[in-house]
Parts: sequence; structure tokens; C-alpha cells
Amino acid sequence: MEFKKFIHKKPYLIAGPCSAESENQLLTIAKAVEGTADVFRAGIWKPRTKPNSFEGVGKDALTWLKTIQKETTLKVATEVATAKHVELCLESGIDMLWIGARTTVNPFYVQEIAEALRGVDIPVFVKNPIHPELGLWLGAFERLEKVGVKQLAAIHRGFYSYEKVAFRNDPKWEIPIKLRKEIRDLPIICDPSHISGKSALVEDIAQTAMDINLDGLMIETHYNPSLALSDAEQQVTPVELNSIMSNLVLRDTKLRDEEFKCQLLNFRNQIDNFDTKIIELLNNRKEVVEHIANFKNENRLTIFQIDRWFEILNTRKENANLLGVDEQMVEEIFALIHKYSILTQTKIMRK
Ligand code: PEP
Ligand code: MN
Repeated sequence: MEFKKFIHKKPYLIAGPCSAESENQLLTIAKAVEGTADVFRAGIWKPRTKPNSFEGVGKDALTWLKTIQKETTLKVATEVATAKHVELCLESGIDMLWIGARTTVNPFYVQEIAEALRGVDIPVFVKNPIHPELGLWLGAFERLEKVGVKQLAAIHRGFYSYEKVAFRNDPKWEIPIKLRKEIRDLPIICDPSHISGKSALVEDIAQTAMDINLDGLMIETHYNPSLALSDAEQQVTPVELNSIMSNLVLRDTKLRDEEFKCQLLNFRNQIDNFDTKIIELLNNRKEVVEHIANFKNENRLTIFQIDRWFEILNTRKENANLLGVDEQMVEEIFALIHKYSILTQTKIMRK
């Protein structure tokens, strides 16, 4: 594939709110990120999982983005999901566009968007499809390249997972690495906001993205995230954005290093996911313990039943032996679990 390079800085930073809410909101945030960010983002048409959520203010916000272009040095970008969106953005002179994760999954939509962009020379970012299918992501770039879009970049925003995972969207770092192998010169921007789902975790993901040598970041930023009409939990303030950017450690990496780091990250990701499950199971266990406490209370039973404790200890140790897990470790873990179970029951009975 043939590209026209439009990213000349590393890390390239796209920042701005999840959604455009008012002209004033956009201007306040844009002024605050000017100087740190290269591009200002704001969603106008919002693909929401459920109806009756805030679905964006629509085309009115295009004039607000024009105000940002006039009053700041920032380029502006928004999400397009249909050919009509593309037309409206081109009429308004929006600088850059991105295709969202819910659109990349559908080749019909991507083709329609591509047709609307035929012969247009503006940068287009393509977010990964919601599920981890590299082919669909690659296909979207091929469709855009065929109609003559040469300024292309990818956005890695993580993948939906049926399993309980540590983040809102599982990063699956091996996928952007594979994309890099398939399309050598394609810049890849990481979106730690949609991966993490929580503002406190954005910095860590952003650093990881830099460690595997991705080219930039898209970070959702709002002057008051708690007031945001969408994705309130994952947006950072402009002050936090500044601190994230200045804390980033940039290392020189070679591809061999990237693969090594990617393998390490995948192992860590598996451990994160197991730990999330362990905590979830402990919580499920605690809920049952609370029911037991009420039950014992109603039936005037004592909390601590010595026979039951020995039974727990012996069966867990037997299980550990069967699976080849250290018996001593299992005994210590269950002693702790049991201790907290007794504490939980005591609290309930004293109520
Ligand atoms: C967004 O960028 O606000 C958005 C909707 O992202 P995604 O398509 O990654 O879910
Ligand atoms: Mn969002």
C-alpha cells in the first residue's frame, strides 16, 4: 500500500471530549489542550449501545468545530459512520475523520464511506473492529486506499471480550503488532481511554503503547469529566492530560524488542484477567457468606463450626494436590479467606 505521511511527530496526540456537547465546552477544552495536542477530537454522531442514551448533537456541532479551527492552532477531527456524515464534514472543512469500531466491523458501511471519500485528500483514521479480527481492519484500509485516500492511520482501541477482563476493552497487543507487520508504514495510534474505561488507568496503557513503539495517542479529555454526557468515567482533565504526556517515557525500540515486549504483555494481560476473575469469585463467595450469616442468625447457630473448617481445609488441600498446586500455599490462602468470612459473618450478626 502506498501512503502519504502526515504524522511528523511522536507521540502524535489527539485529545478532546468523547462528545461535542456545546460550543463553549469544546472551546474551553480546546484552549486547554492547545500546545499539548496536535488534533482536537469530538464525537458529533455517537454510536451508543442502547437507545435513549445521548446520541450526539449532530451536524450543529460542525460549526463549533470550525470555531476551534479559527480560534486555536489545532486541527479538528470527528467520527463518521455514513456517507452523509462524510459529505457534511467535507462541506464544513473538517480536517480529519475517523471511522469508529462499530463501523469498521461492517464492510458495507466502510465501502460507502470510502466511496464518499473518493479522490479526497484528508487524513482518515480507522479504529479496530470491536472484535479481534485483523482481516476486517486490514480490509478497511484496502477499501480506503483503493479510492485514493493516502493519508491513513490506525487507532487501536481494544477489543470487546465475553470473558471478564481487567479493562473495558481487552488490549490484545498482539493485534496492532500484527497490523504493523502487515502494513509496514501505517502509523498506529493507541486509544487508552476506550481500552481502559477508567481515567486512572489511562497513563499506564499510554506508556505501554509507547513501549511497543506505537506512534501516538488518542485521549478523551473533558474540563469536568463527571459532567460528560458520554464516557464520563474514562475522560481525563486537561491538567491530567498534561501530566500523562510529560510522564511518558519514550524509548528507542527495534522490532525484535517489540515482539519480545508484546509476548511479555500478553502474559501480563492473561495474569491481569485471571486476577480480575479471582477478585470477582471472592466477591461471589462473600455474597454467599452473607446469606449464610443471616441463615445462621435466624437458626441461632454459632458462626464458627470447627468440623466445617477442617472439612474446608482438607478438601481444598486434596484439590490442590490433585492439580499439582502447592498445598501449603492453598492452606494459607484459605486460612485468610476463612478469617475474612468469619469477620463478615460477625459484622452481620452484630447488626
Ligand atoms: C469514541 O471515540 O468516542 C468512540 C465511540 O470510540 P469507539 O469507536 O472506539 O468505541
Ligand atoms: Mn468515547
